[in-house]
Amino acid sequence: MDAAPSSRAPATPDTVVVADDDRAVRTLVCRWVQSAGMSVIEAGDGEAALLCVNAHAHRVAVVILDVMMPHRDGFGVLHALRAEPSTASIPVILLTAHATDELAVLRGIETGAAAHMPKPFSGPVLVARVRQLAQQRSASLERAWQLQRAETAATRDPLTRLSNRRQFESVVVAEHAYAKRHELPAALALLDLDHFKTVNDVFGHDAGDQVLRHFAEITKQTLRVEDQAFRVGGEEFAVLLRGTGVEGAEQVLDRLRQVLGKSPVTLGGDETRYHVRFSAGIAALDGDRSAAAVLKAADDALYASKRAGRSRTTRAR
Ligand code: GH3
Ligand code: MG
Ligand code: MG
Repeated sequence: MDAAPSSRAPATPDTVVVADDDRAVRTLVCRWVQSAGMSVIEAGDGEAALLCVNAHAHRVAVVILDVMMPHRDGFGVLHALRAEPSTASIPVILLTAHATDELAVLRGIETGAAAHMPKPFSGPVLVARVRQLAQQRSASLERAWQLQRAETAATRDPLTRLSNRRQFESVVVAEHAYAKRHELPAALALLDLDHFKTVNDVFGHDAGDQVLRHFAEITKQTLRVEDQAFRVGGEEFAVLLRGTGVEGAEQVLDRLRQVLGKSPVTLGGDETRYHVRFSAGIAALDGDRSAAAVLKAADDALYASKRAGRSRTTRAR
């Protein structure tokens, strides 16, 4: 199951990593950075700088790197930061040894430095640059978080945290194509809770929601990591099972029934212990028919289960 993104906005990064093997220059840079209200972490060589940034990536706003350093020079650190997704977008200022070091500036631009400062540097210019880059980093983290949230809202059901119908519709087509191409078994199960309306009628809508969350949680726990569960309607769910035919799918649903039988939900003021029951239809997600035809077959099988008395699984014909 995929992890949900945090519902809290990311903290504003407030730390600057300052790496220079020359202690006097490093101390001076740190003082100026601190005067801008930022925290600093000092590193005396390239390797140490890399370790510091990797360890605190989420709170690092800017990295200031001397070009000439032992163990790993500024370009080497910059290159390593760019190669790692968690640090790739952290802005880096390169401190070049000479104002006229054109080659170093060019190489820095090619490697992805956000800015260059010639030594000896101007404190106020350095501070202005750090502030500007820190603001940019903060804004880009905020945008990435908003985007992730929007994606989650579009693909996930907020009540159960399962993937939603929209996501199911695209995943089922992809899984069908995968199974067909690799000639691997895969199965689709459609599940519908039995007499769910009665829960709402007797215990209220909140209790109904509690039952849906409980069912989703038990289903997630019962499935293997390669299987996927979706909430495709009010009290309707779908399960996609990779590498498993209909027999395997039937066993999975039997196991789910056993687990649900042992874990009732407590509802209402009198603490009624309610056992969730469901009917299911299963179909092989093979290449012999289209994904739409498999879905229709599983749906027909589900309704055959309902007609036959509920709380059972029917294989599609
Ligand atoms: P059957 O055994 O034939 O499936 O009967 P059922 O009562 O489960 O099915 P029916 O389709 O008659 O009722 C489903 C109910 O689910 C009706 C609807 O109000 C309720 N429902 C749909 N979405 C939600 C939800 O998000 N929360 C709650 N609490 N109820 C919901
Ligand atoms: Mg139902
Ligand atoms: Mg229904």
